[in-house]
Amino acid sequence: MVLFVTGRCHRRCWYCPLSSERKGTDTVWANDRPVDIDKEIIEEAEKMSALGTGITGGEPLLCLENVARYCRLLKDHFGPEHHIHLYTAKAPSETELAAMRGVVDEIRLHPPHENWPFILDSDFIASAKRAKEMGFSIGIEVPSLPGLENLIPALPYLDFLNINELEWGETNAYAMRERGYELADALHNAIDGARAWADELCRHEKVHWCSSGFKDSVQLRERLKRIAENTARPFDEITPDGTIVYGVLEPSEEQMSASMEFCERKLEHGSFESCGERIEMAWWLLTEYADELFGTKTVVERYPDKGTIVEVTPV
Ligand code: SF4
Repeated sequence: MVLFVTGRCHRRCWYCPLSSERKGTDTVWANDRPVDIDKEIIEEAEKMSALGTGITGGEPLLCLENVARYCRLLKDHFGPEHHIHLYTAKAPSETELAAMRGVVDEIRLHPPHENWPFILDSDFIASAKRAKEMGFSIGIEVPSLPGLENLIPALPYLDFLNINELEWGETNAYAMRERGYELADALHNAIDGARAWADELCRHEKVHWCSSGFKDSVQLRERLKRIAENTARPFDEITPDGTIVYGVLEPSEEQMSASMEFCERKLEHGSFESCGERIEMAWWLLTEYADELFGTKTVVERYPDKGTIVEVTPV
């Protein structure tokens, strides 16, 4: 699960990918769900059978007390093996590390771009050494930008270094254009040339590359599939992409009771559901009985758990 704990941040990175919906706000999001009370975090984690959680923001250390509480909640509920990693653009102090000890397993540091040429003299290495001594797994996670090779001297102090392919977003588009960056293709958000900046660093065994396509097509798909498996109704079809597909019949007010009678008579129990002014059912049944059912008929594909509608096809 991705737990977004705050949209506030002490830095102003020009490439910041945060959406305008989240930037600067204090709303907590568990995956794509805004969370008002702690128990909703557990509900969301359960919904996707989460094996671990990534704490992200904004800057999570700006609300460290809340972070420690969320992590304790997750560890208490799912057990100590529920792996928790935390991103931070700060170099955590001894006090901050002590507050995370026992509840956060791994820390991913994001030193700002301007610190890279002097990384060994920065607070980040001192912090990494301290974190290691205190039993954390410690690494650096940065977007791919020119000058990544400046981070090579940091490798001996780290367990890993992750590079994320630089991505175009609604809030950094102007800064991208200003620097002359362009999209690699028309289908993805990856920036042309971002992989080449990482080439030298990627030769080292502690270094992992995460492409924009991998994030979208593998991480997102796997998360959707887990949520779909836990929340789909018996008649929802789960697609290989983790979306669900079902049929929708919208009869007029006068046609409603006849339509329900038809469904109860012809369709198996569990293959349809009355949803107010609509009847939702297995899409193949809606197609099979299309001529006998009255009203508007559509097949809907959407993200699981009442998520975004991807496609509506008339029958
Ligand atoms: S540290 Fe992260 S959240 Fe903060 S401005 Fe930079 S990219 Fe955005």
